Amino acid sequence: MNINRIFCIGRNYAEHVKELGNEPDASCVVFMKPPSCVVPVGRPIVLPRGRGPVHHEAELVVRLSGGGADVAPEQALRHVGHLTLGLDLTLRELQNELKKKGAPWELCKAFDGSAPLGDWVRYEGQDVQALEFSCTVGGTLRQRGNTRDMLFPVARQIHILSKTWRLADGDLIYTGTPAGVGPLLPGDRVALESAAIGRFEWTCE
Ligand code: MG
Repeated sequence: MNINRIFCIGRNYAEHVKELGNEPDASCVVFMKPPSCVVPVGRPIVLPRGRGPVHHEAELVVRLSGGGADVAPEQALRHVGHLTLGLDLTLRELQNELKKKGAPWELCKAFDGSAPLGDWVRYEGQDVQALEFSCTVGGTLRQRGNTRDMLFPVARQIHILSKTWRLADGDLIYTGTPAGVGPLLPGDRVALESAAIGRFEWTCE
């Protein structure tokens, strides 16, 4: 399935906002990754070397099947076509340096391999604000979240993005991560799982 653009929402779960020492914001953090960052299931995650820790951020990912501009929140979920889970991989120390400088985040967020992406399940009216999901590394639970805890629900994310971009088929949204982020190391097996979506696993190199 084609990927048009990858939008990512930051600071969307209160406990994760706290663990990184950030303040919750009245507006959500938005950034992008190029589609070339995607690592499908079955490919290894090649971790960047010599640039500090690479953190996993487990996230619900939605794929839009349409969209347009200025989408009303009440109409927004009509444009969701598919769901999956993904990892918003982050070079955390570099991100902290970039934050201090007020510099953009591409170097820490949009590197090659930074967007592992599970297989799609069709969106058929599932409650996207009641999905439990987890991230385990080497069988150890690192993150467990429920989309009910989002500060900016999916419909609102679509509404917000559509005020800046005319949304289209193939646009993805990485919808933010719950608490428990931490480093990945070469040799790690990282798995994302949700009863409603599936289980997806990658090996880190
Ligand atoms: Mg994230």
